[in-house]
Amino acid sequence: MSTIKCDVLIVGAGVFGMSTAYYIKKENHALNVVVIDKEAGAGRGTTSKSAAAYRIYFTSTINRKLAASSVNFYEHLQHEKKIDLGLHQTGYLWLLNEEKYKRLAHAISLMKKENLPLEIWDRETTQKNVPNLVTDFTHDEDRELLNLVPVDYSILTKRAGWLDPHSLVSFYEQEFKKMGGKVYYGKKVKKVLLEAEPSIGLPKEPHIWQKAKISGVETTDGTRFDANTLILATGPWTNFLLDPLGIDSHTKPKKRQLFQLKSQKFSIFKAPPAFSPNPLPFTILPYSGVYFRYNPNEETVWIGAADNIGRPFNDPEKSIDDPQPEMDFYEYGIYYVLSKYFPIFENIRVDTAWAGYYTYNTIDKNPYVFRADGLNLIICTGGSGSGIMKADSIGRITAALYYEQKEAKLFGDVPFNVDDLSVKNRRVEHEEMVI
Ligand SMILES: Cc1cc2nc3c(=O)[nH]c(=O)nc-3n(C[C@H](O)[C@H](O)[C@H](O)COP(=O)(O)OP(=O)(O)OC[C@H]3O[C@@H](n4cnc5c(N)ncnc54)[C@H](O)[C@@H]3O)c2cc1C
Repeated sequence: MSTIKCDVLIVGAGVFGMSTAYYIKKENHALNVVVIDKEAGAGRGTTSKSAAAYRIYFTSTINRKLAASSVNFYEHLQHEKKIDLGLHQTGYLWLLNEEKYKRLAHAISLMKKENLPLEIWDRETTQKNVPNLVTDFTHDEDRELLNLVPVDYSILTKRAGWLDPHSLVSFYEQEFKKMGGKVYYGKKVKKVLLEAEPSIGLPKEPHIWQKAKISGVETTDGTRFDANTLILATGPWTNFLLDPLGIDSHTKPKKRQLFQLKSQKFSIFKAPPAFSPNPLPFTILPYSGVYFRYNPNEETVWIGAADNIGRPFNDPEKSIDDPQPEMDFYEYGIYYVLSKYFPIFENIRVDTAWAGYYTYNTIDKNPYVFRADGLNLIICTGGSGSGIMKADSIGRITAALYYEQKEAKLFGDVPFNVDDLSVKNRRVEHEEMVI
């Protein structure tokens, strides 16, 4: 068995792992930091499956902080450093019925107090500004069957849009490598190695009276990576590595899918007067969790849905390595609702589709960055469907935890109490705006 030794081993070259690697190395160029991933390149897990939308609007103060600072950094890279992240600031448009609007009223007033640029439109204004939208289903015979709630309000949030996740993860990877960081692809971790410190060579160490430490990992091709600190940034695969150690990631994987439709008809979304020169924002329907994103360069629409009830956390019969999209989920689920709110989608077939996994924090839907009790093991996870837009902050916080700093400095010198994302001393509010 060949052995590679390092100071810090990060498993997972997704956007969390690569930004963590970058910030750890940036602080100390002499440190031997290694990233490994089972795929053939960076970001090929969940990161590449993402809709990659971003916003700075969340009901949780912590989520707002994580996203605002990360988005500021991405904008800084795009506009000042001229590093193309494919940033399209198109905005987010949340279509809401009265009941949902009332539920969000408190968070909306808080966000207004923080001077976040957001506009509230009533039904008439929404109807006037959003091409092809149906807002009232009073006379629709399918209203009750399909739960077609009216669009009473919409919230337009302008500091939002989408980016290219591959460009983002590649930025961190290239900068990490420039500083001397090493990345190995095609290395699938089979096992995290838990050993006794010191070992006295008894079978089944560590025993309950022994001090335990992580010595590294073993990969399926027989390589051993020895590290002083192990960081798991393995997204939805984290439980497969932690469960055998009896350590809880506090997250669960849930499949999420995206369906791409292509049609010249979508040009009506290109530059509607209310948004011109921008296209229609990333749009979220009021009840079913269906959302879509229009790309004017390709005349494509990406459609997803936040299906929760009835969607298993993980099908234990199948490997989670290769989640497949389900066409009938679009045809019998999304299509019926979407084509009611936007009739332009009628009779347009799905062009391509793909699936990935949300790494769900099922309790509060904020990320986790924590050290496993008494071990040289750090876990950063729980993107909960919004990890791209928080990844820069997560990298900085995980690096600060590694360096045993109480406070991380987010972009713009924003202080962040590292413990706020821990398990033991967690200080977060429940997130309502999850899609
Ligand atoms: C359909 C969909 C839509 C989404 N839309 C958005 C969105 O609009 N905006 C947003 O901000 N977020 C969105 N997300 C969420 C976002 O993609 C994630 O939060 C983010 O990519 C998480 O990154 P990560 O680094 O934690 O995980 P990943 O990108 O999954 O990285 C984990 C890495 O670990 C590697 N790995 C795992 N196990 C092992 C092992 N045993 N050995 C070696 N390597 C291993 C994997 O190969 C992978 O590369 C979406 C997700 C999905 C699925």
